[in-house]
Amino acid sequence: MPELNAMLLEDIKSEIDSYLEKEKDYSSALNIYRALFIVHDQYLSRIEVQINADPEELNNYLRQGKYLLSEETIDIDGDLFRELLNDIVAAILENSPTKPEGLEKLPQLEELSAENVHSFIQKIKGKTKSGVEKAVVDEEIDQKTGVDKEIIAFTLLMSIIPFYSCYAREIAGLANLGLWQKGYCPVCGQRPHIAKFRVEDGARIMGCWLCRTQWRFARLACPFCENRDQGSLQFFYVEENKVRRVYVCEKCKGYVKTVDSKMMGKDVILDIESIVTMHLDLKAVKEGYKPPEEAIAVVN
Ligand SMILES: [Zn+2]
Ligand SMILES: [Zn+2]
Repeated sequence: MPELNAMLLEDIKSEIDSYLEKEKDYSSALNIYRALFIVHDQYLSRIEVQINADPEELNNYLRQGKYLLSEETIDIDGDLFRELLNDIVAAILENSPTKPEGLEKLPQLEELSAENVHSFIQKIKGKTKSGVEKAVVDEEIDQKTGVDKEIIAFTLLMSIIPFYSCYAREIAGLANLGLWQKGYCPVCGQRPHIAKFRVEDGARIMGCWLCRTQWRFARLACPFCENRDQGSLQFFYVEENKVRRVYVCEKCKGYVKTVDSKMMGKDVILDIESIVTMHLDLKAVKEGYKPPEEAIAVVN
């Protein structure tokens, strides 16, 4: 069975509500995400995806370590993107305690007008966070809005994620993700932002921040360099919180945050775990591990 992330908005909302009590340091980030997930949910059914691919050919991609969307043109409807971007901006401004001034100018920019939006989307499509930040600086969008490039990149990525989620849902449904053995996303090729040990059997499930696909990956290997030497693969945790750990690789200095949902005794929602473990990212970077630059940061 493909490990698709069948997230239900009601589950997300109730998980966030319960975490708002327990994870006070993250309350503003959780509130922003709560609003963003609601916006995403409103658009998921409106995005139309047409994929004509042969399932056997897709399965061959997976066997060869080639991600499913590598040959596919992701067609993003410019008008719908603009509408979604407007709602994302509104949700951030409404829920962010810092209310980034100037962000409201973003959807009005010439680069994102009905005529230009399509070519702009091409520049940011499938990019990592740092790639989108570079496009923002190249197009002087930070200058024109007076908003920090990280906040703009976050806003744009949040507006593109639903399109990738819809493509992922469609194409992964045609293939057998169980054939995939790599540490990067079998659908869109991005690196995992977080992982979990599955509650039923402890298998390691990786999560993609861009298309939200989940896939199984070897427990005792580095997802970035495929190192399997156990002497150079370790983990740490902080404040005796043993269920949320950071698995590090001494060979490539990469790391992946991992939640032991088996030990927790309940399934977790990776997108939410990724938010409430940001202190682990800070710790890992401080210890000299490379930040998964592809992973998405939260803007307060
Ligand atoms: Zn993906
Ligand atoms: Zn490694």
